[in-house]
Amino acid sequence: MIMSTMLHRATAFAALLLSAFYLALPATAADLSPEKIEKVLAEAHKAFKGVKDGANADYIPALDEVDPELFGISLVTPDGRVYNVGDSKYTFSIQSISKAFIAARVIQDQGTEAMLEQIGVDATGQPFNSIEAIESIEERSVNPLVNAGAMAAVSMIKADSPEEKWAQIQGTLESFAGRELTVMDDIYASEAATNDRNQAIAKLLDAYGRLYDDVPVTVDLYTRQCSVGVTSHDLAVMAGTLAAGGRNPVTGDQVIDEDKVPEVLAVMATAGLYDDSGIWLYNVGLPAKSGVGGGIVAVAPGEYGIAAFSPRLDAAGNSVRAQLAIEYVVENLGGNVFE
Ligand code: GLU
Repeated sequence: MIMSTMLHRATAFAALLLSAFYLALPATAADLSPEKIEKVLAEAHKAFKGVKDGANADYIPALDEVDPELFGISLVTPDGRVYNVGDSKYTFSIQSISKAFIAARVIQDQGTEAMLEQIGVDATGQPFNSIEAIESIEERSVNPLVNAGAMAAVSMIKADSPEEKWAQIQGTLESFAGRELTVMDDIYASEAATNDRNQAIAKLLDAYGRLYDDVPVTVDLYTRQCSVGVTSHDLAVMAGTLAAGGRNPVTGDQVIDEDKVPEVLAVMATAGLYDDSGIWLYNVGLPAKSGVGGGIVAVAPGEYGIAAFSPRLDAAGNSVRAQLAIEYVVENLGGNVFE
């Protein structure tokens, strides 16, 4: 009798300790059981696949031809589990999402100071292809996630020839994605034929001494970089690599040093969603990067990388459905870095 009372008390005490332990867990700890992830991704896809707001980007003509109904969501955990729903195998152009990973390459190879001094890490408060930002901000390029800073980043990659530099750009994107990636020729041709504004930006930066390689070579490599084809699955692995401290969760390769990852995420948090980066961070609480091809990646550090793709964009240039889907997943799985 006494024994059983003692046992009972011990069990109650253990239960108390256990519940105190769980209560002490950070509120952000996401529930990442396979069932929960599958359920939440399916719900997000179902909830937003009927949303028709926004429009494909049309300033690059080939982007306007992509089926606007496509919609895929993918999530990757640091232990290498991959979850997909919808059109997660459809290949679209990475566009500006590539900028985050090339910024990572520059930070990794040339260091924090080089990024700060030769490009910068502040928001411009201007559209991604702003010429006014170059004219009005004394440092000229201030962020590797807008076109000016992204072309400066391309120009900083050290190589002996354009081919060698391209190999580094492609190789970087591939190591984050964990597979071979190729340029989508139709997108590349379409953008190369219409990228006068980016040529002007590069020329202007060069005039201010803030472009570090030949202008036409840099614009061409940047245009090719934006035309690399990816799926939402690929992008989730890329985001998952950042979520896992720079180690690709599928291949196991350490792509960038763990101590460089917070710098990449900080730039994404500052400027990842164009002019709506602030409202995105306020609402969702994850560093992210979007592209005019309709993709968005977001990183819940230590928890998961997520990507969504759907071509219709809002006025700021961010995919409407991809934003809704990622916000829904974060609300339902957890992961907001500020909670
Ligand atoms: N290649 C596009 C451009 O330079 C990228 C824009 C984007 O995705 O934000 O205009």
